[in-house]
Parts: sequence; C-alpha cells; structure tokens
Amino acid sequence: MKTKATKPAIGATPNAALDATTVNTLKGVGEAMATKLATLGIYTLQDVLFHLPFRYQDRTRLRKIGELRPGDEGVIEAEVVISEVVQRQRRSLLVRVADGTGSLTLRFFHFSAKQSQQFERGKVLQCFGEVRRGPGMLEMVHPEYRLASQGAALQNTLTPFYPATEGVQQGTLRKLSDQALQHLRTVSLAELIPQSLLAPLGLPDLTTAINTVHRPPPDANVQELADGLHPAHRRLALEELVSHRLAMRQLREQHQTNQAPVIASSSSLADALKASLAFDLTGAQARVLNELLQDTQQPEPMLRLIQGDVGAGKTIVAALAAAHAVEAGYQVALMAPTEILAEQHLLNFCDWFEPLGISVGWLSGKLKASEKRSMIESVAMGHSRIVVGTHALFQNDVEFQNLGLAIVDEQHRFGVHQRLALRNKGAKNNLLPHQLIMTATPIPRTLAMTAYADLDVSVIDELPPGRKPVTTVALESQRRADVVQRVNAAIAEGRQVYWVCTLIDESEFLQAEAAEDTAQILAEALPDHRVGLVHGRMKSKEKDAIMAEFKSANIDLLVATTVIEVGVDVPNASLMIIENAERLGLSQLHQLRGRVGRGSAQSSCILMYHGPLSKTARQRIGIMRETNDGFVIAERDLEIRGAGEVLGTRQTGAAEFRIAKLGRDDDLLDVVSEVADELAATQPKAVLKLIRRWIGDGKQDYGGV
Ligand code: ADP
Ligand code: MG
Repeated sequence: MKTKATKPAIGATPNAALDATTVNTLKGVGEAMATKLATLGIYTLQDVLFHLPFRYQDRTRLRKIGELRPGDEGVIEAEVVISEVVQRQRRSLLVRVADGTGSLTLRFFHFSAKQSQQFERGKVLQCFGEVRRGPGMLEMVHPEYRLASQGAALQNTLTPFYPATEGVQQGTLRKLSDQALQHLRTVSLAELIPQSLLAPLGLPDLTTAINTVHRPPPDANVQELADGLHPAHRRLALEELVSHRLAMRQLREQHQTNQAPVIASSSSLADALKASLAFDLTGAQARVLNELLQDTQQPEPMLRLIQGDVGAGKTIVAALAAAHAVEAGYQVALMAPTEILAEQHLLNFCDWFEPLGISVGWLSGKLKASEKRSMIESVAMGHSRIVVGTHALFQNDVEFQNLGLAIVDEQHRFGVHQRLALRNKGAKNNLLPHQLIMTATPIPRTLAMTAYADLDVSVIDELPPGRKPVTTVALESQRRADVVQRVNAAIAEGRQVYWVCTLIDESEFLQAEAAEDTAQILAEALPDHRVGLVHGRMKSKEKDAIMAEFKSANIDLLVATTVIEVGVDVPNASLMIIENAERLGLSQLHQLRGRVGRGSAQSSCILMYHGPLSKTARQRIGIMRETNDGFVIAERDLEIRGAGEVLGTRQTGAAEFRIAKLGRDDDLLDVVSEVADELAATQPKAVLKLIRRWIGDGKQDYGGV
C-alpha cells in the first residue's frame, strides 16, 4: 500500500529542528533509499550529520611526483613520456608520465585497445591514485585520470569516506551530507555540552566540529585527521563518550528500579562451608565477598563483576555467595562457557555442598534427553538448589522455582544477550536475580569506565599464599627434543605437565587430529610415563574420565587442545607447553599459562613457536616473558589490538564508537566523567538528547545486564 506523498522541499521548513526533519525531505531520497539509510541508523538530518567519515582523500592540490612516497594518495599532473603494452605474468598497459620533479608509471591490467592508444606522448594528464613501489619506479595502479585540458578537477575540501552499505554509495552519502551541511547554515545544532565545560579544553563548538570533519579545509592537518586527533574529532569524541557514559548510567538506573531478593549477610551454611575448607580466605577474597554481600542484602539487583587474575580464587567466593542465597531460600545458577569448565565447577560445588546436604544440579547440552528432562523438572520444582551448567541453563525450557543469584564465569565468552536471558529467568514475584560475573581477563580502567560503567567491579588483587610466579621461556619449534627432555625431568620429579596443541584452524576436527598425533608422538618419546589426551570432539564422559585421571595424578602428561584454556585446576601440574604460541593472543596465552603455578612448586611455561615472528607476535611473546600480571597484560593487549577487539564487539555495542577510540582518547575520560556527572545532575533534557543523538533509540539493550 504505497502512497506517493508529495515531498516538502528542503527549503520549505528552514527552521525545523535537524532531529525532527526526516531524510526523505532530502533530494535523491525516496522510500527505497530511506529504508537503506535506516540500516545505517540514518533517519533524520541530524543522523546524516552524525554519520561521520572514517577517512579522507586529498584532492585539493597537485602533488609533485618527486615528493610522493609509497602509500601516499594524491593528484598529480604529468606529461605522457611513453606508453606500451607489455606481456609478463599479466598483460598490462604501462604509461610513464613525468612532471619535471620525477616520473611514475601508471599501470592498467584491464584496458581496451582504444584506451591503450589514447596515451600519446606529450599529452598532459591529471591522475588520482595511491602510489606504490613498482619495479624501478613508483607506480599508480588503475588511477582515475583525465586530460588536464578538460580543466582542473581539484576539490575545495578533503574528500570524506563514510561507512556505507549495500546500495548506498559514497557519492550518495556525500550528496546527502552536502545538503545537510547546507541546512546547518540556517539551523544550528543544539549544543548540549555547556560551554563552561568545553572552553577550558580548547575544543571547537559543535557546528564547527561537524563542518570540519565532513569537509575538512585544504589546510587542515591531514595527519591529525587521519589519526583522529584533530580538535574537531576530539570535540565529537568527547561528546560521544559522554553520551555513552550517560546511556550506561541510565541503564543502570533502570535496572535498579527492579526488585531483587534480600539475602541476609550472615549464613550458617556459608560458615560451615568456610570451616570445611583446607585454607583461609585471602584478605582480598574476604573483602570482595563482603562487598557482594553488601549488595545482595539490598532489595535492588546486584550487578557486580569480580575481576581476579587466573588462580586468584574466584570460585570459592562465588560458592560462599551461593551459600548465602541458598540459605535465604533462593536457587543459584552458575553458568560457565565451556563443558570442561562447567564440569570442573560441578566437581568443586559437589565437593563443597553435598556434605552440607545441598544438592547440586547439572545442565549441559550433552545430557541425554531423559536426563535433561528430569533435571529440568528438578530445577522447576526447586529440588536442585544450585544448578551448574553451560549455555543450556538459559534455554527456554529451563524454569527456576525461584532464582535468586545468577553467577556467570569468564563472562568474555558470553554475549550480552545470553546474560540477559539468564537474568530474565528471574525469581518469581517480579524479583530479578542478583548477578555476579567473574572474569580473569582484567578490564583496563579505560574500558571499565565506558563499556562497563554499568557494572560494579570488585577486584581480587592478591593470590593465595605460596604461589610462585611462573617462569616463561620461548623456544623455536625445532628444539622440541629439548622440550621433551624438560617434560621428562618434570615428571621424574613427580610433577604433571600440560602440552597444548593449537591450530590456527578453527575446526575442532583438525585440532583434535593434531592433538592426537602429538599425543602419539609424545607417548613414544616418553615410554615410561602416562600420556593422556583431551580435546573438544570427545564425549563428555571420556573427557571427564581423562580429567579425573589427570586430577588424581594417574596421568603425567596431558595433551590437550585449547579446551583446557579456562578454569581447569590441577595444582600439581607445574609445566605448561604451548605449541604455536605465535598464533595465540595475549589473553589466551595468559589463560593457558594460568593452568600452572597453582600449587607450591616452581612452575614454568614454554612457548614454542615457528619463526620468523611477526612484529606483534614478538611483542606478545616478549610481554609474556616479562610479566605474570594479568592486569599489565590486559593493558598491553589493549595497546596492541585496540578496544573493540579486546572486548570482542559481539559482547558490547559500547566498544563500537563512531568516532571515539579507546586507547587513543583515554586522556579524555576524566573530563568525560566530569561532564557526564554535571549533565546528569543539572540537565536531564540534554541527557536524553545526547543519548538519542549518539546511540539512538533502538540499541539501548546493550550492556544492560
Ligand atoms: P580462579 O580465580 O582462576 O577461578 P580458582 O577459584 O580456580 O581460581 O582457585 C584456584 C585454586 O586456588 C584452587 O585450587 C582453589 O581451591 C585455591 N584457592 C582458592 N582460594 C585459596 C586460598 N585463600 N588459599 C589457598 N588456596 C586457595
Ligand atoms: Mg575460574
């Protein structure tokens, strides 16, 4: 039912607010285009103005060939010296041009006969392209070109490139932004950040900043623009970060209007559990437990992240919190990202709780249908007071009788939506469960301030006593025989060893195969020792059996794929070999290494690699050798990779900024807090407008868990 509405001309409502004027008032935007623009989040003129370029080309001036370097992009004006078609690996048309400062080759792989004849000696061309190193001299491959006699094609501003999408070309986006910028001359953009806060920073006003980033003048500092460090960028980055922070705050406030069960901070069950342990809590564990018990005795849902390096002892803290919730009459769910980790938690929780008369349930995708059915019933009836499991825990058919506390381990592996799903399995009577998230991957402060601003964070910043830092060495893979000797020696001393096989291939099948081969070779090389194998393609029963054997020291050397990456805990294991270490990221290496150094023995980690190493691989291995501190490692990881990747954009819309970049814009964060606090306190309307401007209405569920 399409009715063709007559379009109001853009000039017809010159004073309509930019955020109230829809894009279909612009020339060239019909219904179909409006739909496509919507996929870019563009609905209004304001949205067009906040759809920002991510790079620029300089077509404002002629460059001299003599000053061009490989990688440069630019316009040259030069005379044809010679043109020929050559037949090497590929037939190509080569045109040598010169401008008095140097000469350069234009290279075409696709060309018509007519084209090959048009480059007559002496003709003057204007060409635009990227310069690269060619054989003998610089070249441009398939440049844009025209005869200089047709008149100069230079632009008045740098040429912007926008994030585009299917059916929406750069040309379209430039035309739209042209029109919107034109409109901006008569209607100003609401300035939502008070000048009193901006002025001391020496940043431009919003309208200037918007004009500059869309159409930078020829004399703009191109390097600053390319790096996103131009004051116009900084102005917008500040506003964007402020908006995200305000959005997080809003989500948090919304969350806190929900009711949650009140859980008493004293519990004889927790006391009994504590008394049954072979160790005392560290000071940090006791403090963090206390922090979270303060939360759970409030009638608002807790949303707390426990951050603690691998081996810091997060599990027992979670178990003690669970004991409080159980004693208060609520169920507890503990969700882990992998079968192995979930099984490990199950073992621990059974050891801890069953002697105290609390039954621990188990839900994994790999249960038989009948087992699963009876477990689901047990959960729904409330017979299982604590349920440990994997993703299976938040499937639709699982209903809790009265969930009071949801614990999520290693939250990096879970998406926001999965956490939401678990939250929504809340306790009955409109109560939401408290949520406790545990992660070993420390979140650098800069990320915590933005992406995780909605979570309270507790840090277990102390390892249990007697741990010795793991010594890390890197060895080229040819030195395998030496490594096998080290393994032999460690086992002879009564220690146990992990040997982790990694493949760049994601396929579980190939990984499993590689691990099988390695296990066989090692079993032959170490005939006196017991070699076990565990990988992702084994049935969980087999995996369990092997892990149990390793735990009880009936296996000396465990060959594994990265399935053992998270959480596995065998204190007697003191040597970790990681093959193809150059292929792994820092946090993965740190996680794997964290499997050793859990007992009192001096532990080591050998990173085996294939040279030559890339620059970042060398950096990563260097960092691993220098430090055992997960926090330092996470900070360095952020420097090397950038925020989006560290978090995995899947997990957080918040890392997908339009213009701000964590790491680069970190120095703005203190001001961001200040501005956000001020706005929240004094200007609620501006807060809503900022959130609408930068985040939109649709995406507000992100991070809100
Ligand atoms: P992570 O924080 O990596 O999840 P775990 O909770 O698995 O660490 O704990 C690692 C090991 O340290 C486990 O064997 C656990 O029993 C032990 N542990 C935990 N807390 C203490 C403590 N206070 N003193 C001694 N050992 C502890
Ligand atoms: Mg753990």
